Amino acid sequence: MSHTLLNESNADQYRTRVTLLGTAGGPPWWDGSDRTGISTVISVNDDHYIVDLGEGWGPQFRKSNLGPVGFQKGLDNVRAVFVTHHHSDHIVDLPNLLLLAWHNGSDGLKSPIQIYGPGNRGELPPIFAPENREQLPEVFNPDSPTPGLTESAAKLMEAYALDINDRMRDNAKQDLRDVFEFHDIELPGTTGDRPNEDPTPEMEPFEVYRDENVRVTAILVDHRPIFPAFAFRFETADGSVVVSGDTGVCENIVKISADADMLLHECIDMDWVDTLMGPNSPKPDANLMQHMLAAHTSIEQVGPQAQAARVKSLVLTHLVPGNTPAEKWQQAAAGYDGDFYVGEDLMQFGIGAPRG
Ligand SMILES: [Zn+2]
Repeated sequence: MSHTLLNESNADQYRTRVTLLGTAGGPPWWDGSDRTGISTVISVNDDHYIVDLGEGWGPQFRKSNLGPVGFQKGLDNVRAVFVTHHHSDHIVDLPNLLLLAWHNGSDGLKSPIQIYGPGNRGELPPIFAPENREQLPEVFNPDSPTPGLTESAAKLMEAYALDINDRMRDNAKQDLRDVFEFHDIELPGTTGDRPNEDPTPEMEPFEVYRDENVRVTAILVDHRPIFPAFAFRFETADGSVVVSGDTGVCENIVKISADADMLLHECIDMDWVDTLMGPNSPKPDANLMQHMLAAHTSIEQVGPQAQAARVKSLVLTHLVPGNTPAEKWQQAAAGYDGDFYVGEDLMQFGIGAPRG
Protein backbone atom coordinates (compact mmCIF):
# COMPACT_ATOMS: atom_id res chain seq x y z
CA MET A 1 0.00 0.00 0.00
CA SER A 2 1.70 3.21 -1.07
CA HIS A 3 -0.78 5.56 0.60
CA THR A 4 -3.73 5.60 3.02
CA LEU A 5 -6.49 8.18 3.41
CA LEU A 6 -6.28 9.23 7.05
CA ASN A 7 -8.89 10.05 9.65
CA GLU A 8 -8.70 10.94 13.34
CA SER A 9 -8.13 7.35 14.39
CA ASN A 10 -5.11 6.60 12.20
CA ALA A 11 -3.61 10.04 11.53
CA ASP A 12 -0.73 9.61 13.94
CA GLN A 13 0.27 6.19 12.67
CA TYR A 14 2.18 7.39 9.65
CA ARG A 15 5.68 8.79 9.64
CA THR A 16 5.15 10.55 6.30
CA ARG A 17 1.91 12.41 5.75
CA VAL A 18 0.44 14.78 3.21
CA THR A 19 -2.10 17.35 4.42
CA LEU A 20 -4.12 19.62 2.17
CA LEU A 21 -4.49 22.85 4.14
CA GLY A 22 -6.31 24.67 1.35
CA THR A 23 -7.48 23.47 -2.05
CA ALA A 24 -8.82 26.55 -3.87
CA GLY A 25 -6.89 28.14 -6.70
CA GLY A 26 -7.08 31.70 -7.90
CA PRO A 27 -7.28 35.09 -6.27
CA PRO A 28 -11.10 35.38 -6.62
CA TRP A 29 -13.26 34.64 -3.59
CA TRP A 30 -15.48 31.84 -4.84
CA ASP A 31 -19.16 32.29 -4.01
CA GLY A 32 -20.61 29.36 -2.12
CA SER A 33 -17.26 27.65 -1.54
CA ASP A 34 -15.50 27.15 1.77
CA ARG A 35 -12.24 25.99 0.22
CA THR A 36 -9.21 27.80 1.63
CA GLY A 37 -6.40 29.22 -0.51
CA ILE A 38 -3.82 26.78 -1.84
CA SER A 39 -1.37 25.31 0.66
CA THR A 40 -0.07 21.80 1.27
CA VAL A 41 2.08 20.23 3.98
CA ILE A 42 4.34 17.23 3.67
CA SER A 43 5.24 15.95 7.15
CA VAL A 44 8.03 13.51 7.96
CA ASN A 45 8.85 12.43 11.51
CA ASP A 46 6.66 15.29 12.77
CA ASP A 47 8.74 17.86 10.89
CA HIS A 48 6.73 19.90 8.42
CA TYR A 49 7.43 21.17 4.92
CA ILE A 50 4.87 23.63 3.55
CA VAL A 51 4.28 24.23 -0.14
CA ASP A 52 2.67 27.60 -0.92
CA LEU A 53 1.05 30.04 1.48
CA GLY A 54 -2.40 30.79 0.05
CA GLU A 55 -4.99 32.85 1.86
CA GLY A 56 -5.88 31.27 5.19
CA TRP A 57 -3.13 28.65 5.39
CA GLY A 58 -2.30 29.67 8.98
CA PRO A 59 -5.67 28.96 10.64
CA GLN A 60 -5.85 25.77 8.56
CA PHE A 61 -2.43 24.67 9.81
CA ARG A 62 -3.72 25.13 13.33
CA LYS A 63 -6.90 23.16 12.58
CA SER A 64 -4.87 20.36 11.05
CA ASN A 65 -3.25 19.60 14.43
CA LEU A 66 0.11 19.22 12.70
CA GLY A 67 2.10 21.49 14.98
CA PRO A 68 2.73 20.83 18.66
CA VAL A 69 -0.17 21.83 20.90
CA GLY A 70 0.42 24.65 23.35
CA PHE A 71 0.81 28.39 23.63
CA GLN A 72 3.29 29.75 21.07
CA LYS A 73 4.35 26.35 19.81
CA GLY A 74 2.37 25.70 16.61
CA LEU A 75 5.09 26.39 14.06
CA ASP A 76 8.00 24.96 16.04
CA ASN A 77 8.41 21.95 13.78
CA VAL A 78 8.15 23.75 10.44
CA ARG A 79 11.49 23.07 8.78
CA ALA A 80 11.06 24.57 5.33
CA VAL A 81 8.62 26.34 3.04
CA PHE A 82 8.60 26.08 -0.75
CA VAL A 83 6.89 28.63 -2.97
CA THR A 84 5.98 27.29 -6.42
CA HIS A 85 5.58 30.70 -8.09
CA HIS A 86 4.86 34.30 -7.31
CA HIS A 87 1.15 34.51 -8.11
CA SER A 88 -0.69 36.15 -5.23
CA ASP A 89 -2.91 33.16 -4.50
CA HIS A 90 0.26 31.21 -3.61
CA ILE A 91 2.07 33.81 -1.51
CA VAL A 92 -0.48 36.27 -0.19
CA ASP A 93 -0.15 34.88 3.35
CA LEU A 94 3.66 34.88 3.44
CA PRO A 95 3.51 37.93 5.77
CA ASN A 96 1.48 35.85 8.22
CA LEU A 97 4.33 33.40 8.45
CA LEU A 98 6.96 36.11 8.77
CA LEU A 99 5.18 38.11 11.46
CA LEU A 100 3.10 35.57 13.35
CA ALA A 101 5.82 32.93 13.60
CA TRP A 102 7.13 34.80 16.64
CA HIS A 103 3.84 34.39 18.39
CA ASN A 104 2.89 30.91 17.22
CA GLY A 105 6.25 29.26 16.96
CA SER A 106 9.94 29.92 17.29
CA ASP A 107 9.68 28.91 20.93
CA GLY A 108 12.11 26.09 20.49
CA LEU A 109 12.80 26.24 16.75
CA LYS A 110 15.37 23.55 15.97
CA SER A 111 16.88 25.78 13.31
CA PRO A 112 15.74 28.76 11.24
CA ILE A 113 12.83 28.04 8.90
CA GLN A 114 14.25 27.71 5.40
CA ILE A 115 12.11 29.45 2.76
CA TYR A 116 12.71 28.66 -0.91
CA GLY A 117 11.08 30.32 -3.87
CA PRO A 118 11.59 31.49 -7.43
CA GLY A 119 14.30 34.02 -8.10
CA ASN A 120 14.00 37.23 -10.11
CA ARG A 121 12.20 36.65 -13.43
CA GLY A 122 14.90 38.64 -15.17
CA GLU A 123 12.67 40.37 -17.70
CA LEU A 124 9.12 41.64 -17.78
CA PRO A 125 6.45 39.36 -19.22
CA PRO A 126 4.93 40.45 -22.54
CA ILE A 127 1.68 42.42 -22.58
CA PHE A 128 -1.07 40.02 -23.57
CA ALA A 129 -3.08 41.10 -26.65
CA PRO A 130 -1.80 44.70 -26.72
CA GLU A 131 -3.96 45.36 -29.78
CA ASN A 132 -7.03 45.10 -27.51
CA ARG A 133 -5.77 47.71 -25.06
CA GLU A 134 -6.72 51.34 -25.29
CA GLN A 135 -3.72 52.15 -23.16
CA LEU A 136 -0.69 50.01 -22.42
CA PRO A 137 0.06 49.53 -18.70
CA GLU A 138 2.89 51.49 -17.13
CA VAL A 139 5.51 49.34 -15.45
CA PHE A 140 5.00 49.15 -11.69
CA ASN A 141 8.16 49.70 -9.65
CA PRO A 142 10.44 50.01 -12.68
CA ASP A 143 13.58 49.85 -10.50
CA SER A 144 12.73 46.23 -9.72
CA PRO A 145 9.65 45.04 -11.59
CA THR A 146 10.18 41.25 -11.30
CA PRO A 147 11.63 40.52 -7.83
CA GLY A 148 12.46 37.06 -6.57
CA LEU A 149 11.59 35.60 -3.18
CA THR A 150 14.56 36.97 -1.24
CA GLU A 151 13.93 40.55 -2.34
CA SER A 152 10.16 40.30 -1.82
CA ALA A 153 10.58 38.90 1.69
CA ALA A 154 13.14 41.56 2.64
CA LYS A 155 10.80 44.31 1.45
CA LEU A 156 7.83 42.78 3.28
CA MET A 157 9.82 42.76 6.49
CA GLU A 158 10.84 46.38 5.90
CA ALA A 159 7.18 47.29 5.49
CA TYR A 160 6.52 45.87 8.96
CA ALA A 161 9.62 47.43 10.57
CA LEU A 162 7.67 49.17 13.31
CA ASP A 163 6.09 45.94 14.55
CA ILE A 164 9.38 44.08 14.25
CA ASN A 165 11.31 46.71 16.24
CA ASP A 166 8.53 46.96 18.79
CA ARG A 167 8.46 43.21 19.43
CA MET A 168 12.22 43.01 19.76
CA ARG A 169 12.53 46.09 22.01
CA ASP A 170 9.32 45.85 24.03
CA ASN A 171 8.62 42.10 24.14
CA ALA A 172 12.24 40.87 24.07
CA LYS A 173 11.52 38.70 21.03
CA GLN A 174 14.50 37.14 19.33
CA ASP A 175 15.83 38.88 16.21
CA LEU A 176 13.36 38.06 13.43
CA ARG A 177 16.27 37.87 10.99
CA ASP A 178 17.38 34.77 12.88
CA VAL A 179 14.04 33.00 12.50
CA PHE A 180 14.11 32.62 8.70
CA GLU A 181 16.60 31.99 5.95
CA PHE A 182 15.46 32.91 2.44
CA HIS A 183 16.68 31.30 -0.75
CA ASP A 184 16.06 32.14 -4.39
CA ILE A 185 15.98 28.82 -6.22
CA GLU A 186 18.85 28.89 -8.67
CA LEU A 187 18.27 27.31 -12.04
CA PRO A 188 21.09 25.10 -13.28
CA GLY A 189 23.41 26.61 -15.90
CA THR A 190 21.66 28.58 -18.61
CA THR A 191 18.33 26.79 -18.05
CA GLY A 192 15.44 29.21 -18.22
CA ASP A 193 17.44 32.17 -19.47
CA ARG A 194 14.78 32.94 -22.11
CA PRO A 195 11.64 33.12 -19.94
CA ASN A 196 9.43 34.70 -22.60
CA GLU A 197 10.43 32.43 -25.46
CA ASP A 198 10.95 29.12 -23.65
CA PRO A 199 9.66 29.00 -20.05
CA THR A 200 9.81 25.18 -19.83
CA PRO A 201 12.99 24.03 -21.52
CA GLU A 202 13.80 20.35 -21.59
CA MET A 203 15.60 19.67 -18.31
CA GLU A 204 16.06 17.20 -15.49
CA PRO A 205 14.69 17.78 -11.96
CA PHE A 206 17.38 19.40 -9.81
CA GLU A 207 17.90 19.37 -6.05
CA VAL A 208 16.86 22.44 -4.05
CA TYR A 209 16.86 21.11 -0.49
CA ARG A 210 17.93 18.09 1.53
CA ASP A 211 17.92 17.11 5.19
CA GLU A 212 17.64 13.88 7.17
CA ASN A 213 13.92 13.53 6.27
CA VAL A 214 13.54 14.64 2.68
CA ARG A 215 15.23 15.39 -0.58
CA VAL A 216 13.37 18.02 -2.59
CA THR A 217 13.85 18.49 -6.31
CA ALA A 218 12.28 21.04 -8.64
CA ILE A 219 11.54 21.42 -12.33
CA LEU A 220 10.15 24.31 -14.40
CA VAL A 221 6.51 23.88 -15.36
CA ASP A 222 4.41 25.78 -17.89
CA HIS A 223 2.49 28.56 -16.23
CA ARG A 224 3.36 31.23 -18.73
CA PRO A 225 3.79 34.12 -18.55
CA ILE A 226 4.61 33.58 -14.87
CA PHE A 227 8.21 32.43 -14.61
CA PRO A 228 9.87 30.73 -12.86
CA ALA A 229 7.04 28.36 -11.94
CA PHE A 230 8.10 25.15 -10.22
CA ALA A 231 6.78 21.70 -9.42
CA PHE A 232 8.43 20.08 -6.40
CA ARG A 233 9.12 16.42 -5.67
CA PHE A 234 9.63 15.23 -2.08
CA GLU A 235 11.55 11.98 -1.72
CA THR A 236 11.18 10.35 1.68
CA ALA A 237 11.99 6.94 3.11
CA ASP A 238 8.27 6.13 2.80
CA GLY A 239 7.73 7.21 -0.78
CA SER A 240 7.61 10.21 -3.07
CA VAL A 241 5.12 13.06 -3.34
CA VAL A 242 4.93 15.62 -6.15
CA VAL A 243 3.20 19.00 -5.98
CA SER A 244 2.52 20.31 -9.48
CA GLY A 245 2.18 23.99 -8.69
CA ASP A 246 0.25 25.76 -11.44
CA THR A 247 0.89 24.31 -14.86
CA GLY A 248 -0.53 23.58 -18.23
CA VAL A 249 0.10 20.22 -19.86
CA CYS A 250 3.86 19.85 -20.23
CA GLU A 251 6.56 17.24 -20.48
CA ASN A 252 8.39 18.49 -17.37
CA ILE A 253 5.52 17.67 -15.00
CA VAL A 254 5.45 14.12 -16.37
CA LYS A 255 9.21 13.91 -15.90
CA ILE A 256 9.31 15.05 -12.27
CA SER A 257 6.27 12.90 -11.39
CA ALA A 258 7.58 9.68 -12.89
CA ASP A 259 6.50 6.68 -10.74
CA ALA A 260 5.69 8.91 -7.74
CA ASP A 261 3.50 7.52 -4.99
CA MET A 262 1.32 10.62 -5.03
CA LEU A 263 0.85 13.49 -7.47
CA LEU A 264 -1.01 16.54 -6.19
CA HIS A 265 -2.11 18.30 -9.36
CA GLU A 266 -3.86 21.56 -10.12
CA CYS A 267 -7.02 21.57 -12.24
CA ILE A 268 -9.25 24.08 -14.02
CA ASP A 269 -12.88 23.62 -15.04
CA MET A 270 -12.95 24.87 -18.63
CA ASP A 271 -16.77 24.98 -18.60
CA TRP A 272 -16.41 27.83 -16.13
CA VAL A 273 -13.93 29.55 -18.44
CA ASP A 274 -16.42 28.98 -21.25
CA THR A 275 -19.18 30.80 -19.37
CA LEU A 276 -16.82 33.77 -18.88
CA MET A 277 -15.32 34.06 -22.34
CA GLY A 278 -16.61 31.22 -24.54
CA PRO A 279 -18.41 31.78 -27.85
CA ASN A 280 -21.83 32.17 -26.13
CA SER A 281 -20.61 34.39 -23.29
CA PRO A 282 -21.21 38.14 -23.06
CA LYS A 283 -17.51 38.77 -23.86
CA PRO A 284 -16.27 36.00 -26.16
CA ASP A 285 -12.49 35.84 -26.36
CA ALA A 286 -11.08 32.66 -27.93
CA ASN A 287 -7.56 34.01 -27.63
CA LEU A 288 -7.83 34.56 -23.87
CA MET A 289 -9.43 31.12 -23.45
CA GLN A 290 -6.42 29.51 -25.11
CA HIS A 291 -4.16 31.60 -22.91
CA MET A 292 -5.90 30.30 -19.75
CA LEU A 293 -5.73 26.71 -20.92
CA ALA A 294 -2.02 26.97 -21.74
CA ALA A 295 -1.30 27.93 -18.13
CA HIS A 296 -3.58 25.38 -16.44
CA THR A 297 -4.63 21.75 -16.81
CA SER A 298 -8.27 20.93 -17.59
CA ILE A 299 -10.43 18.17 -16.11
CA GLU A 300 -9.99 16.26 -19.37
CA GLN A 301 -6.20 16.65 -19.44
CA VAL A 302 -5.10 15.83 -15.90
CA GLY A 303 -5.82 12.06 -15.90
CA PRO A 304 -3.72 11.36 -19.01
CA GLN A 305 -0.84 13.41 -17.51
CA ALA A 306 -0.90 11.28 -14.35
CA GLN A 307 -1.16 8.13 -16.44
CA ALA A 308 1.85 9.12 -18.55
CA ALA A 309 3.85 9.62 -15.34
CA ARG A 310 2.68 6.21 -13.95
CA VAL A 311 1.93 7.78 -10.56
CA LYS A 312 0.27 5.50 -8.00
CA SER A 313 -2.24 8.09 -6.81
CA LEU A 314 -3.56 11.40 -8.11
CA VAL A 315 -5.05 14.07 -5.86
CA LEU A 316 -6.66 17.16 -7.38
CA THR A 317 -5.99 20.42 -5.61
CA HIS A 318 -5.77 24.10 -6.55
CA LEU A 319 -9.27 23.83 -7.99
CA VAL A 320 -10.43 26.67 -10.23
CA PRO A 321 -13.10 27.71 -9.68
CA GLY A 322 -13.34 26.69 -6.05
CA ASN A 323 -17.10 26.27 -6.29
CA THR A 324 -17.30 23.65 -9.05
CA PRO A 325 -19.04 20.66 -7.40
CA ALA A 326 -16.93 17.65 -6.38
CA GLU A 327 -18.91 15.37 -8.72
CA LYS A 328 -17.65 17.34 -11.67
CA TRP A 329 -14.02 17.14 -10.55
CA GLN A 330 -14.50 13.36 -10.28
CA GLN A 331 -14.57 13.29 -14.09
CA ALA A 332 -10.84 14.02 -14.00
CA ALA A 333 -10.26 10.34 -13.14
CA ALA A 334 -10.92 9.51 -16.82
CA GLY A 335 -7.82 8.24 -18.57
CA TYR A 336 -6.05 7.35 -15.31
CA ASP A 337 -5.76 3.87 -13.77
CA GLY A 338 -4.45 4.67 -10.27
CA ASP A 339 -6.16 5.84 -7.08
CA PHE A 340 -7.89 9.15 -7.54
CA TYR A 341 -9.10 11.74 -5.04
CA VAL A 342 -10.72 15.13 -5.32
CA GLY A 343 -8.91 17.15 -2.69
CA GLU A 344 -10.80 18.68 0.22
CA ASP A 345 -9.42 21.07 2.82
CA LEU A 346 -7.71 19.19 5.70
CA MET A 347 -7.77 15.89 3.81
CA GLN A 348 -4.77 13.89 4.94
CA PHE A 349 -2.88 10.91 3.52
CA GLY A 350 -0.31 8.59 5.03
CA ILE A 351 2.52 7.62 2.68
CA GLY A 352 4.05 4.14 2.91
CA ALA A 353 3.44 1.73 5.77
CA PRO A 354 2.26 2.74 9.27
CA ARG A 355 4.95 3.25 11.91
CA GLY A 356 5.83 0.02 13.71
ZN1 LIG B 1 -0.58 30.74 -10.70
